[in-house]
Amino acid sequence: MKKIVVALDGNSGCGKSSTAKVLARRLKFIYIDTGAMYRAVTLFFIKNKVDIKNDLDVEQALKEVDISFVYNIESGKNETFLNGKNVEAEIRGMEVSNMVSPVSEISRVRKKLVEQQRRLGEGNNVVMDGRDIGTVVFPHADLKIFMTADLEVRAQRRQKELKEQGVEVPLTEVIDNLRNRDVIDSSRKDSPLRQAPDAHVVDTSLLTFDQQVEHILRLIEEKVCIE
Ligand code: C5P
Repeated sequence: MKKIVVALDGNSGCGKSSTAKVLARRLKFIYIDTGAMYRAVTLFFIKNKVDIKNDLDVEQALKEVDISFVYNIESGKNETFLNGKNVEAEIRGMEVSNMVSPVSEISRVRKKLVEQQRRLGEGNNVVMDGRDIGTVVFPHADLKIFMTADLEVRAQRRQKELKEQGVEVPLTEVIDNLRNRDVIDSSRKDSPLRQAPDAHVVDTSLLTFDQQVEHILRLIEEKVCIE
């Protein structure tokens, strides 16, 4: 039977990952969080003081990076592992968030991660979220969604998420981080954040989480007619 790829792209903090997780669970698809992969590489670079302007340093460091996902039965979530260590919480902090977009601009980093993303997607029904899934990783995805939301709404949601993890960050700092990442992600040379011409745009500013999930589920059902 043909395998289905749902590509979910969009701005930082508009709820892609939380939405993709629930969609995958409801559809019994595999969920792949490509942002977590860029975050894991960034964490490795920070920990090992890799000079991101030095091509040789970056090349060498990438050889030492191994990223995997392990399903945690208790939390019901896929968790990110870097070289065998669970880094799920660490990659979500502000230190990584502030460095991840400059690291994601590096073509060598993208090449390595895109290859792994394609391998993970092959032969499976997947929901994959990121910035370049519908344009670069799976340009022939069965359904492409481009999610967006008002900057302030996104920042409030992200701040709440961080608070739930016990991290207090002022709203202005969250707004600055999201704005900066949007600018870098959309203007980089390699695989910039772009809406694919055949993507469905979903603006979640005025939608509740359940509404956005139901809306996208309907699009998936209409488009791919899942039995
Ligand atoms: O999705 P998330 O906000 O966790 O992504 C973190 C960062 O990783 C983004 O701001 C972007 O710089 C980078 N990224 C990317 N391409 C992807 C996924 C994420 O460049 N496919």
